[in-house]
Amino acid sequence: MKKIAVITSGGDCPGMNAAIRAAVRVALAHGVEVWGIRNGYAGMIADNMTKLDSRSVGDIIQKGGTFLGTARSEEFKTLPGRQKAVANLQSHGIEGLIVIGGDGSLTGAKQLGDMGIKMVGLPGSIDNDIWGTDYTIGFDTAVNTALEAINKLRDTASAHGRVMLVEVMGRNCGWIALTAGLAGGAESILIPEVPFSREDICKQLLESRAKGKQYSIMVVAEGAGSAIELGQYIRTKTGLETRVSVLGHIQRGGAPTVADRLLASRLAETAVRSLLAGKSGIMIGYHNQQCVEVPIADAVGKKKDIDPELYRLADVLSQ
Ligand code: ADP
Repeated sequence: MKKIAVITSGGDCPGMNAAIRAAVRVALAHGVEVWGIRNGYAGMIADNMTKLDSRSVGDIIQKGGTFLGTARSEEFKTLPGRQKAVANLQSHGIEGLIVIGGDGSLTGAKQLGDMGIKMVGLPGSIDNDIWGTDYTIGFDTAVNTALEAINKLRDTASAHGRVMLVEVMGRNCGWIALTAGLAGGAESILIPEVPFSREDICKQLLESRAKGKQYSIMVVAEGAGSAIELGQYIRTKTGLETRVSVLGHIQRGGAPTVADRLLASRLAETAVRSLLAGKSGIMIGYHNQQCVEVPIADAVGKKKDIDPELYRLADVLSQ
């Protein structure tokens, strides 16, 4: 294999740049030419791709987002759209592809693989929702951003004796809420994977006041419902002074943490090596401190479960 391409697609996440940088430099170290595709699959269809060298990926390891740009493309979901994309790759003599993105992007990558393009996927998502990997690129940074916010909100909740609801991202998955909630010492963590009743939450809040807790921090995963609505309900039902903070896209940005830079660099190196070894149709995951090859068909379209032990511990520690 003499020429490969790298693409970032779907939702951006901190660490994508570190992954691109590692993929480019590892490929160059193996004497392989690398191209960068701009703006996700939309750029693949529009033939928006250029050759990268080692300097093209300098000064990006510390930056969030993705210097290649990313996008969502409806056209790529159609066969004619993907045929255009494949034709463009072939016209440049690109023999292998590394796709960095979430479940949708990896599903698209699988389809390219089915059309004969040699491809390896890397799990890039702040949500940690991809099956076949213990962690996704971007998750650690997002959780640390959420934790920093929780720490600050705790100061003000404590000063005023308030109930503070913090809504975090995660789509239909509770990993960010659970991890940031446990690390941030939340009194309750509401995630889509564990059913809850609003009445019970109010009861629990009043009980904890009676037990001497002066204030409460609740972390709500966006997939568990609107924290704004829940806050209104709690205020009305309990009479407790309640405030809501929806963290939103701040969780998507920022300099990637050490863990994310290492994860991205290691996964990308393995991706290049696997491609050069002739592998295709796989995602590189991280499991038990090791980079592992996972058939991409196994990884996509599934929901990764939360760790029930982590949830149990969070519950015990919140008493
Ligand atoms: P993410 O990769 O972050 O999950 P999306 O789900 O929006 O983000 O997917 C990113 C892009 O991947 C989409 O805009 C589309 O171009 C492509 N994609 C998603 N799902 C499919 C699919 N089922 N078939 C082909 N391409 C897809």
